[in-house]
Amino acid sequence: MAVLKSSPAFLVLAFAFAFFLCFIMSTGSYVYFQFVQQWPPTNCRVRIKRPCSNPRPLQIFTIHGLWPSNYSNPTMPSNCIGSQFNETKLSPKLRNKLKRSWPNVESGNDTELWEHEWNKHGTCAEQTLNQMQYFQRSHGMWYPHSITEILKNASIVPSPNQTWTYSDIVSPIKKAIRRTPLLRCKPVPALPKSQRGPKSQRAQPNSRPQSQLLHEVVYCYDYDALKLIDCNRTAGCWNNVDIKFPP
Ligand code: 5GP
Repeated sequence: MAVLKSSPAFLVLAFAFAFFLCFIMSTGSYVYFQFVQQWPPTNCRVRIKRPCSNPRPLQIFTIHGLWPSNYSNPTMPSNCIGSQFNETKLSPKLRNKLKRSWPNVESGNDTELWEHEWNKHGTCAEQTLNQMQYFQRSHGMWYPHSITEILKNASIVPSPNQTWTYSDIVSPIKKAIRRTPLLRCKPVPALPKSQRGPKSQRAQPNSRPQSQLLHEVVYCYDYDALKLIDCNRTAGCWNNVDIKFPP
């Protein structure tokens, strides 16, 4: 075996295999899309170390991104080889629509967020959606199924104190879109040092928090980004922990 491993043929084969794997990863092999919408108040509330430079006081779910994904690792692929973001490929009419549906809720620089999302995620599905189609399709996914409206109709509205269960929030969305969405939460950030209780009474980092903030709602789409499909429930919110929907 040792002789085989050092033989030139083995080295060539190993190199070719590694090259093939890198090629697959960088050209964006994916199975489905995650269309991720975020709740802007949670975005800025959890950014304690690097606060939002220009938080937008929006009370509607806005687009975070359209991510080609794999079931084994939903955060992959990313940063694929492909054309880099070029704003001129977006018509002025589309840019105006995106300013509503896909704003940069942290810094206010919308183009910067579109550029980040296209370069990190869009490039991995360029074989399916070119840049114009990627942004057009995303806006089209946002527009007809407004999560903000669906939740409002189910009397789930932003509130500083009220809490909900995972299924309280998922059920009306599931009923409206007839597919299972996925929720993502963030732990309620720790109080400033001066307001904290004794160390023994505080939650340890990575431990189950006492309550969590609704952060993102994910809709899943098929390979062509045309048909809604059920999302797999992966890690996103802690089980059996109340969910807050902060204004
Ligand atoms: P991803 O990079 O995979 O698209 O998502 C994670 C990152 O997106 C996080 O670093 C998060 O801060 C960032 N993000 C989400 N929404 C916004 C936004 O509205 N503006 C900016 N600048 N970053 C955002």
